[in-house]
Amino acid sequence: GTPVPVNRERLGALLGRERETYAERHPRSRAAYRAGANLLGNVPMTWMNKAAGRFPVYLAEARGATVVDLDGHRYVDLCLGDTAAMAGHSPEATVAAVRRRYAEAGGATAMLPTEDAAWVGAELARRFGVPLWSFSLTATDANRWAIRLARLVTGRPKVLVFNFCYHGTVDESLVTLGRDGAAAREGNVGPPVDPAATTRVVEFNDLDALDRELAAGDVACVLMEPALTNIGIVLPAPGYLEGVRELTRGHGTLLVNDETHTLSAGPGGCTLAWGLEPDLVTVGKAIAGGIAAGAYGVSAEVAERVAGRPDADLIDTGGVGGTLAGNALSVAAMRATLEHVLTDQAFEHMIGLGTRFTDGVRGVLDVCQVPWSVVQLGARAEYRFTSPAPVNGGQSAAAGDDELDDYLHLYLHNRGILLTPFHNMALMCPATTTDDVDTHTEVFGAAVAELVGG
Ligand code: PMP
Repeated sequence: GTPVPVNRERLGALLGRERETYAERHPRSRAAYRAGANLLGNVPMTWMNKAAGRFPVYLAEARGATVVDLDGHRYVDLCLGDTAAMAGHSPEATVAAVRRRYAEAGGATAMLPTEDAAWVGAELARRFGVPLWSFSLTATDANRWAIRLARLVTGRPKVLVFNFCYHGTVDESLVTLGRDGAAAREGNVGPPVDPAATTRVVEFNDLDALDRELAAGDVACVLMEPALTNIGIVLPAPGYLEGVRELTRGHGTLLVNDETHTLSAGPGGCTLAWGLEPDLVTVGKAIAGGIAAGAYGVSAEVAERVAGRPDADLIDTGGVGGTLAGNALSVAAMRATLEHVLTDQAFEHMIGLGTRFTDGVRGVLDVCQVPWSVVQLGARAEYRFTSPAPVNGGQSAAAGDDELDDYLHLYLHNRGILLTPFHNMALMCPATTTDDVDTHTEVFGAAVAELVGG
């Protein structure tokens, strides 16, 4: 049959109806929002205003894959803190470790190391292949510090990233591909310098463009997600990542895999799942079960080259480090989460559910004949309003549709399902169930059927 186009008038009416329902169902959240008069934008972080219902619901409780809001509504949480709660909310083993460290033994941050760190370093080495690790509190900082080390050891000034990537609030990466190369990403707040001075940008899945940009000889590192996850999910074409590795080696550029989101591919992210050989790996968000922690790992060769630069101040104010990075509480939480929660076995369960979710969505798209696509990356899947699935960030960005996003997010929300506000993304945690996934399939099916008049 012919794919059904979206009727904008019907979409507008449905969205209006869902907004009304949302407003009616959340009086306490709305009051809490109004009470935030001394907060920028009324919320703890301005990005929390990214809410399809025009104000966010407020968190009351969360456990495993379930969230309860201030008005007492329960949700199947497929947002999972946009990956930061990939271990599930407050998993028991992490709660116990945090209690032990913070309450029983005492001491979250004493400027002294704890024994847990050695275990975590060994575990991250096992998972991601690179042998030497250090910590941060966020994935953003892990990326910042990885970039600094790459500049130090290569003596080169620039970073190469992909069009519509996101790696946190890393200045060098807040760019898109303009007519003449790197341009400040739309809306970028107070960029320190013209990003063309720090960054080269290419489309994902384009080896010729990568070769051309690296040939300039000024790129310290390629910073990449092995699959883009912040502009829909864009998977690498067969042979693409091998090509990236060959080109980076050939041009003397280091390769940094940011596995913060792509950890969904398995216990060691795409790096382990696909046998990749990056020079550095960065990770954050989920690895401490919701407690702030990030990490970056380097190859033996990079570590040796760093050691060969005794002029670099890695002890004091050289630009790599943070007072709370590697604190006892974060490290205890990382250990418990990696040892007992985000285990190899847990990933098997989560990835199985990712497949079930993807199959369910695909079934709905087939039945309703809508020309959308769904892409899975292990325990994560995302739908996009175009088909076939985009092969690069530019294509995927062009398929964005804010009104459709809002409609689907609100429809699901009003029926007990949370998606990440910034994505049409669903993530599975160890506590997610087949019932949770099937509930989504059913409600998503109803949302699409109403939209196309089925
Ligand atoms: N890397 C990737 C791939 C991300 O998606 C994000 C956040 N969405 C970050 C890094 C930054 O994480 P944080 O905001 O926790 O520093």
